[in-house]
Amino acid sequence: MEFRLSTEQELFKRMVREFCEKNVEPRSREMDDKEEGIPDELIKGLADLGVFGIMIPEKYGGSAPEGEEMTYANIAVQELGRAEMSMALPVYTLLCLGWGFLITKYGTEQLKEEVLPRVAAGEYFTGIATTEPGGGSDIANIQTSGMYKDGKFIVNGEKVYISGVLESIEQRDGGHITLIRTDPEAGHRGFTFVFIPAKLPGISYSTFDDIGRMALSTGSLVYKDVEVPEYYMLGEMNRGFYLNMEGFNLARILVAAACVGMTEKALEISRDYVKQRVLFGRPLAKFEGISFEIAEDHAKLEQLKLYLQYTAWAADTLYKEPDFISHRDLSRMVSICKMEAPMLGAEITQRCMTHLGAFSYTKECPLGRGLRGIMSYVVGAEGGYHIQKLIIAREYIGDEAVPYR
Ligand SMILES: Cc1cc2nc3c(=O)[nH]c(=O)nc-3n(C[C@H](O)[C@H](O)[C@H](O)COP(=O)(O)OP(=O)(O)OC[C@H]3O[C@@H](n4cnc5c(N)ncnc54)[C@H](O)[C@@H]3O)c2cc1C
Repeated sequence: MEFRLSTEQELFKRMVREFCEKNVEPRSREMDDKEEGIPDELIKGLADLGVFGIMIPEKYGGSAPEGEEMTYANIAVQELGRAEMSMALPVYTLLCLGWGFLITKYGTEQLKEEVLPRVAAGEYFTGIATTEPGGGSDIANIQTSGMYKDGKFIVNGEKVYISGVLESIEQRDGGHITLIRTDPEAGHRGFTFVFIPAKLPGISYSTFDDIGRMALSTGSLVYKDVEVPEYYMLGEMNRGFYLNMEGFNLARILVAAACVGMTEKALEISRDYVKQRVLFGRPLAKFEGISFEIAEDHAKLEQLKLYLQYTAWAADTLYKEPDFISHRDLSRMVSICKMEAPMLGAEITQRCMTHLGAFSYTKECPLGRGLRGIMSYVVGAEGGYHIQKLIIAREYIGDEAVPYR
């Protein structure tokens, strides 16, 4: 049993932290205030470190540490969460890594050659588009259609609250792995996953006025007779629902990583503050009302961090040894991380704000940005809080706990 990161993993972590402390952290307030998107040089710098190539084999321009991809991705995204607490850059990165991995695994050769080298170079964004106006949690009810005809899918419908809309259309270039209904009679066995470049003719978009992660857009994508060539399909026709669930497993690990990184930094800010803030003639840290809260939060976060590292390792191991655990068992572990990390992070960040008093309510202090950012994952992004409980209950208790069966 080995709990340490390997020497290479430690070096990678140190390298990403140095880059983030020097380049990302100093610009995090400006990114949130100006709402002009993520500066190109930050994406380019991370690409040069190999971050965007973690999930991509060398053959397609990446630098995948074969068999340890999730472990490395977890390290990188945690570091980004520490440095950019509003979580715009961590989320941009985790979407490219988590969902880009499905292209590596299930994409056609033509799709991989077209997209992956550009993702690894930081020139191309890859996101996910499942949510529709009718609801995000009930994925089996999506309506966007994609009739297959003459080697193309003809896509019609609307996706909403999609991250990276401006990034893939106006600011940079990119597209979304999109869940479409290809067999209207077959329920969730009638969905297919296709990659849709966001600039294809027939796609229009609008953006939402979010309260957090201001440097990363969310918006709607409307498809009107959009022709998507067959080579953009991932895996097999009508297997999209299952690939979506597999993709959630990877993306949610990284969501938890971003939240854990952000929360760790929030707690450090509080720890450093209470040591130097003198009240009633002594440092605030001397008062157990404060120090015990920090101690308890540190304990909870350490447990979660270790469980997250274990889950990332389990995901890597499952791809190397398919009999290690089932994908459903991995989903249970992943949902524990996704349920805990945003909610615990939001709670801890709020407590940290109380430790810093009025200063925490200014934009000079990054805690407010962190709270607004992490709330995106509490309310729903990559699957709502309650949905994680539903998955854990289904896998731990059994089908008796499933309300829709
Ligand atoms: C900032 C942000 C970025 C996003 N980016 C993307 C993206 O890139 N791509 C994408 O496809 N989607 C994206 N989403 C959408 C996200 O996936 C959805 O918010 C999520 O799936 C929940 O869907 P919903 O918001 O429609 O809520 P609903 O599905 O309407 O659910 C409302 C509430 O009810 C709860 N709930 C639902 N079902 C049950 C149940 N059976 N029992 C108990 N409680 C239940 C949910 O947890 C939630 O709290 C994003 C969301 C946000 C906030």
